[in-house]
Amino acid sequence: MKLDISALRYLTSEDWRVLQAVEQGSKNHELVPTPLIQQIAGLRGGSGVHKCISALAKVGLIAKVKNAKYDGYRLTYGGLDYLALNTHRKANAIYSLGNQIGVGKESDIYITASPDGRQLVLKLHRLGRISFRTVKANRDYLRKRSTGSWMYLSRLAAQKEHAFMRILYREGFPVPEPVAWSRHTVVMEFIDSFPLRMIESIPDPGKLYGELMDMIVELAKRGLIHGDFNEFNVLIKEKTVGGKIRLEPILIDFPQTVSTNHANAQMYFDRDVACVKRYFERRFKYTSDEPGPFFADVLKDADPERRLDVEVEASGFSKKMAKELERYVEVVGGDQTEADGASVVGDGQDDAEDDEDGEGGEDEEHGEGEEDAPQDPQVDDPELAEDLGS
Ligand code: ADP
Ligand code: MG
Repeated sequence: MKLDISALRYLTSEDWRVLQAVEQGSKNHELVPTPLIQQIAGLRGGSGVHKCISALAKVGLIAKVKNAKYDGYRLTYGGLDYLALNTHRKANAIYSLGNQIGVGKESDIYITASPDGRQLVLKLHRLGRISFRTVKANRDYLRKRSTGSWMYLSRLAAQKEHAFMRILYREGFPVPEPVAWSRHTVVMEFIDSFPLRMIESIPDPGKLYGELMDMIVELAKRGLIHGDFNEFNVLIKEKTVGGKIRLEPILIDFPQTVSTNHANAQMYFDRDVACVKRYFERRFKYTSDEPGPFFADVLKDADPERRLDVEVEASGFSKKMAKELERYVEVVGGDQTEADGASVVGDGQDDAEDDEDGEGGEDEEHGEGEEDAPQDPQVDDPELAEDLGS
């Protein structure tokens, strides 16, 4: 599922209203019937709405779906992308879209720029993209979900990521500055760096190791465990200080972060620690003389008055939301699972709706509501970054 913004500038204000109406209608309708779209959009005259609907379906922002009772439309990931981009554009968070710099297992990462030319990163969460055939556990849980619920989970992931980053950044933890959040997307500071994974050798592995362990410990003292603390999620920034190169680790990727009060907190903490230990042993042949850190020790030093997990919950990312997302993360796992044979497939929508058993009543109608996303224009030169129009 590539992000193609070529149709963005051609959408009329009515098209946007209809697209928003489909989104709103999706909150309580798996497929949104045309009369409801018309009603929510509040546009006079039926033919105008039909014209918008077919324009949106033609560029793949909504898709026509049939069920036993009626025909209707649903938002596609492309449509959701457009709505989010439009919100960021209107809020002056982003002005142009550049290269795709990362394809995570379940996210797409693009370089973007703000109206004043600051480089930023746009992360689009794409839960449900992982190929379920390769995930053994709870395959049914994954397969039975509808597109709407994937989008809902992707939104939760973005909301959670933004909520954690905001608070961590404010507290001085080394994370990218979060700039904005809309639907399934987060806009954040671009870190000019390499993932630790790409670093061949470092002059003083012990120093970096110590800094990473400190980070894990400091987070836990404030009530948080990253949960996927690995060489892909630690970015290494090179800084020249007084003629010397200093390596500065920056932590990213927060959708699986848990509270130290979580039932499995000890396991998550130990796993994060073990992950760093193992990586330093393998890659840099470095083993620390010191045992630990140990979860029980960290809890003794924790500061109950300054718990960030409690603050995130109070900020609107509720326990219930956390649980919904957690169920999914447990099944699919973090970045490491990639190495265990899980694979990425082209389009979450297709895969999420992949109905191997031939059951399920939905039938995509091709033609008007082309399901395949339009081809990606591939901007390779940042100079050619496309502005988003106005
Ligand atoms: P995923 O959830 O798919 O693992 P990540 O947030 O870990 O997504 O991002 C995937 C990759 O994109 C990272 O490994 C990194 O290379 C790049 N990336 C993500 N965020 C940034 C950022 N703020 N600045 C620079 N590169 C980034
Ligand atoms: Mg990651």
